[in-house]
Amino acid sequence: MLDKLVIANRGEIALRILRACKELGIKTVAIHSTADRDLKHVLLADETVCIGSAKSTESYLNVPRIISAAEITGAVAIHPGYGFLSENADFAEQVERSGFIFVGPKAETIRMMGDKVSAITAMKKAGVPCVPGSDGPLDDDEARNKSFAKRIGFPVIIKASGGGGGRGMRVVRTEAELTEAIAMTRAEAKSFFNNDVVYMEKFLENPRHIEVQIMADGQGNAIHLGERDCSMQRRHQKVVEEAPAPGITEEMRKYIGERCTRACIEIGYRGAGTFEFLYENGEFYFIEMNTRIQVEHPVTEMVTGVDLIKEQLRVAAGQPLSFSQSDIQIRGHAIECRINAEDPERFLPCPGKITRFHAPGGMGIRWESHIYSGYTVPPHYDSMIGKLISYGENRDVAISRMRNALSESIIDGIKTNIPLQQEIMADENFQHGGANIHYLEKKLGLQ
Ligand code: ADP
Repeated sequence: MLDKLVIANRGEIALRILRACKELGIKTVAIHSTADRDLKHVLLADETVCIGSAKSTESYLNVPRIISAAEITGAVAIHPGYGFLSENADFAEQVERSGFIFVGPKAETIRMMGDKVSAITAMKKAGVPCVPGSDGPLDDDEARNKSFAKRIGFPVIIKASGGGGGRGMRVVRTEAELTEAIAMTRAEAKSFFNNDVVYMEKFLENPRHIEVQIMADGQGNAIHLGERDCSMQRRHQKVVEEAPAPGITEEMRKYIGERCTRACIEIGYRGAGTFEFLYENGEFYFIEMNTRIQVEHPVTEMVTGVDLIKEQLRVAAGQPLSFSQSDIQIRGHAIECRINAEDPERFLPCPGKITRFHAPGGMGIRWESHIYSGYTVPPHYDSMIGKLISYGENRDVAISRMRNALSESIIDGIKTNIPLQQEIMADENFQHGGANIHYLEKKLGLQ
């Protein structure tokens, strides 16, 4: 097993990684910014290194400082968590060049998947179903672009190949708007992502977001752990996630899962990863792959019984996968509500001191969070302060446990989105299951 590991992240995921390390007997180094001295995992880690000021570029995004921290503490590996540098191929490369293990895929895999045009090309080749599209970058040839759009059929969506975080895309409904929309998306892509490559896809009007969790050891073994439904979104940000996805049969799960695992083997994938699909009229359409652990991984853990972080660490240590496809059985249902420090009506971040905190509990309830009474949520980072996960033998039980857990959670001193989550759990259409990606915004009157 790994001897000592640097946790290059903060908040709940840093604590989650620390707990997995403790179980496996791996010593931990918490690196943190000056704003994060009081984080729970910093208080619990074997060693800590303050690597810079609150600003992320001075700390959690500062590659030389993170690598120096690994050097001076004698760590052997670095876990990037999610966000920050987790999908930065240059970081992965520098970690490995400096002689450390990067807990994740090879840099070249991250690079290929970070570029959506090359990711789609690789996935098509591997037999993963993709959205009908331009199958490559668009150029400035108007006639060529128009012929793509006609073949695909309006509406289409123009997307930045280097895009992320729901930015850099534009829906086009008529031929007259096409040329200008391409130029505008290209200019945005250049300024946001320093990459002006754009491509075209069919715009799906009412899809669900369904994603498949995979795990591969880079030694020829890859398995899938079923799917998650993450259609409850606001501004392309997930709010609630669940596993399994309502209405997905064992046969469909097998069909899409096998395509994902085959693709993993073909590209030599290593570690945890997620294939994201839009799902409409019974068909899956690949949109992108995330080459890291995701926020919503606990719902998959609850229905499969697999600890995905421990498995990531085993694979990073060079071990083969500890289970095979036939060991994976989906049992029961799990739901995750993201708990954010934000105003539930205006969605503005609401940092500050938590004056009183009581965690929810009871059968089938899991609370992943770094907060405690007296903790101050700093204003510098993402507003997510925890994840509440409920499990039950079926979806109705998971929802009713979640409603209880939300109602008994006490987080005083700051505003949170708990009232919004309560509203979603009480919503008839959510309870029915299978709502599409626009549902929440429509319900909130934002669309
Ligand atoms: P990002 O990397 O910015 O998250 P994605 O490609 O994953 O970009 O797309 C983010 C979201 O944008 C999707 O979850 C979906 O809501 C919407 N979207 C992307 N592509 C399409 C499409 N072809 N049709 C309809 N909606 C889309």
